[in-house]
Amino acid sequence: MPQEDHVYSYSAVLMGSPILLKLFQHNEHLAHQVFRLIKHYENLLTVNRSPSEVMNINHAAGLHPVVVNPAVYQLIKCAKAASLLPNSAFNLAIGPLVKCWKIGFQGSSVPPAGEISARLALTSPHQVILDDEQHSVFLAQAGMELDLGAIAKGYIADRVRDFLHSQQVFQGLINLGGNVQTLGGASQVSGTPWSVGLKKPFAGPDELIGVIEVEGKSVVTSGTYERWFEFAGKRYHHILDPRTGYPLDNELHSVTIVSQDSIDGDIWTTLMYGMGVEQGCACLANKPGIEAIFVTKDRRVVLSSQQLFTFTLQDSSYQLV
Ligand code: ADP
Ligand code: MG
Repeated sequence: MPQEDHVYSYSAVLMGSPILLKLFQHNEHLAHQVFRLIKHYENLLTVNRSPSEVMNINHAAGLHPVVVNPAVYQLIKCAKAASLLPNSAFNLAIGPLVKCWKIGFQGSSVPPAGEISARLALTSPHQVILDDEQHSVFLAQAGMELDLGAIAKGYIADRVRDFLHSQQVFQGLINLGGNVQTLGGASQVSGTPWSVGLKKPFAGPDELIGVIEVEGKSVVTSGTYERWFEFAGKRYHHILDPRTGYPLDNELHSVTIVSQDSIDGDIWTTLMYGMGVEQGCACLANKPGIEAIFVTKDRRVVLSSQQLFTFTLQDSSYQLV
């Protein structure tokens, strides 16, 4: 394919993930600016090291409100709204539970039930008090902690897209490790989509169930196979159920969301985890801009609808529904 000759790839390791940028021009300066932008937002949003704006909020829990950067404020406001949806599995105040499970870090055992229930009491999104005038955030109880780990990549992927648009770049791809945001198509010949692999759970990094094709859309996958530990013969993964304090346990191995904005992909992967296939598909029937690809433990691939992407199954041990 001659058009492949025009794709230039740039990579870096940021946010603990390999980052890949694809452009249709050789422009190291632009790539450098993109990686700097990612680093800038990572520094604002991280909860794993000080100083960051989110860490400042957490450190002031139960003490006083903290005025934050307007962008951080808007992201927190959006995350709070998602957390307050009826029966939402997404919770921006999940921090105390994430810290006690430590999944993906050094966690390797199930915390005592008493500790989980004590931490659960510190995760109410209602207790995240926002002030639109001041752009301040106040965690009303001592011990509360915001965790934006589920949405930071999506938010940043959208900012990279907006930055590239501002530089008159309308074709390209940014992959933040699980979050792929595409600009335009995959070739200067119009009508050529980008291909994004749907990973096979608990298999080698290059093993795919199939391929998702999109143009100018975000593709976000969240899987129980990404970060987990095994304890007494049972697997515990990193997406926690804010209603119980334990990892979400249902028929799913992964959820992929195709949408315009990657932040929506991030929020909806978590919401869909909480709902499962049947309820999730029913919910998305009224949401034309958000489409889901569910991969179940019994090897079904369920598409909620297919307006924004095409999907090609490659692994015949899976059944497309
Ligand atoms: P990744 O893409 O890094 O695998 P996800 O987007 O699936 O991660 O988000 C998982 C991360 O989000 C966890 O590591 C934790 O920090 C946080 N988290 C876990 N459970 C929830 C939840 N129910 N709501 C919001 N954030 C969560
Ligand atoms: Mg996510």
